[in-house]
Amino acid sequence: MSGSTITPWVVGNWKMNPMQANAQQLIIDLKQQLKAGDILAGTCRIGVAPVSIALLTTKAQLEDATVEVMTVAQDVSRVAGTGAYTGEVSAELLKDSQIDYVLIGHSERREIFADTASVVAEKVKNALSAGLHIIYCVGESLEQREAGQAEQVVLQQICDISVVVNAEQWSNITVAYEPIWAIGTGKTASPEDAQSMHAKIRQGLTQITPFGANTAILYGGSVKAENAVELAACPDINGALVGGASLNAESFYQIAHAFAQSK
Ligand code: PEP
Repeated sequence: MSGSTITPWVVGNWKMNPMQANAQQLIIDLKQQLKAGDILAGTCRIGVAPVSIALLTTKAQLEDATVEVMTVAQDVSRVAGTGAYTGEVSAELLKDSQIDYVLIGHSERREIFADTASVVAEKVKNALSAGLHIIYCVGESLEQREAGQAEQVVLQQICDISVVVNAEQWSNITVAYEPIWAIGTGKTASPEDAQSMHAKIRQGLTQITPFGANTAILYGGSVKAENAVELAACPDINGALVGGASLNAESFYQIAHAFAQSK
């Protein structure tokens, strides 16, 4: 037990997966795991982030889950409101559909879709104005880690949004530390390395917001049932953002179970 008062979060990022029938089956299986399992309400916040076209069906299908499961958007437009922006989904449109949570700044968005620091900051600003809760992803590349720049890069990513987030709005932000070299590679940061970075993030947050001590900081990067217990035991690791392993209901359940038991 770490003694942390932060309720852990375990969020599955389904990325551009799976096909509709498999997604529906995944939710059936997850609900079954939750029903048969012993995660107590309030011990772990659980969420899944499906593709945007499946947000509403996922949310509807999760309504009768025995443990609440949040539906999380994987991204949001940098443009606010409504208007002539083909292909975009704004924060207001998410909120209007009762989708209250959104990932912003995932490394795949930053690297593949050119979400620069200023684009990410615009998304954060709009999402907060619309009343969404953000899971803000940060993390360094292998090159940056090997050059000894990991801490600087990650703290800069926190600073990048601090200019658009006022001290109170930090209560609507969860941070996910996801070293890029650990995402989808099977290489997890050691619990010691992850804890060390989480502690630095926490220190950085406490300097900019009174909510810093209570901000959930999730770890992401090849989290599996096999390594979740060790990660969950670290005092500043308040949950996990899970990619690959979230596509299997049993693995995902076990990760949530590890965090629910640990705090
Ligand atoms: C992610 O994409 O957020 C992630 C952590 O993926 P994986 O668990 O597959 O490394």
